[in-house]
Amino acid sequence: MQEMTLKHTRELDIFYNEHRKKCTNCGQGFTEGDCAHLGYLTGRQYAVLCDKCSHLLEETVVRYHWQELEYEEPLPDDMLWRYMDLSKFISMISRKDLYFAAANTFEDIFEGAKGIMDKKEDWDSFYLDFFKKAILTAPGQDISKLTDEQIKADSKQLLNQINKSGEKDRENTYISCWHLNSYESEAMWKLYSKDVTNAIAIQTTAGHLYEAWIL
Ligand SMILES: [Zn+2]
Repeated sequence: MQEMTLKHTRELDIFYNEHRKKCTNCGQGFTEGDCAHLGYLTGRQYAVLCDKCSHLLEETVVRYHWQELEYEEPLPDDMLWRYMDLSKFISMISRKDLYFAAANTFEDIFEGAKGIMDKKEDWDSFYLDFFKKAILTAPGQDISKLTDEQIKADSKQLLNQINKSGEKDRENTYISCWHLNSYESEAMWKLYSKDVTNAIAIQTTAGHLYEAWIL
């Protein structure tokens, strides 16, 4: 099997985003668990290929374990709103940039976290059990040499690592929030502006926002 070069480019990632549903050669739709091969055909043409067509790739950039998106994608004509203070609007216009806040600066510290706050204990115990089983069934593991204390300590350490990587994800994830609605919302005015008499709402569509991102 061809080595993955992992040489992502923005254009290639956009291509994948827009063609991820089926093989760009034979048209076969991907389903959960399939392998999607992303890369270049001869002549540097982009392609997302199924297993059967993957031999056509001259360069394999990456193989994805294909999964359905975990969220519902808005349609291009869906109306999006963003409510903000006037000062933020002025800053946005003068910089010609959208502001993306790091996920770990959000007021709700569990934004982007695994599970939700009141379920954290359940999740922790789920992961602890999972790690215990993984330690006991790891290839080449000699169970007779493991004490209960050791298994407990090792799975705790793995749990700490997973919690820490969640924190890292929040540091490295940037968010711009938009509200999908066909109508203006009074609740949103109140939620997203310090002073409603000095705030504005801007309106766009999911398609326009996407085009602004890819240009
Ligand atoms: Zn194919």
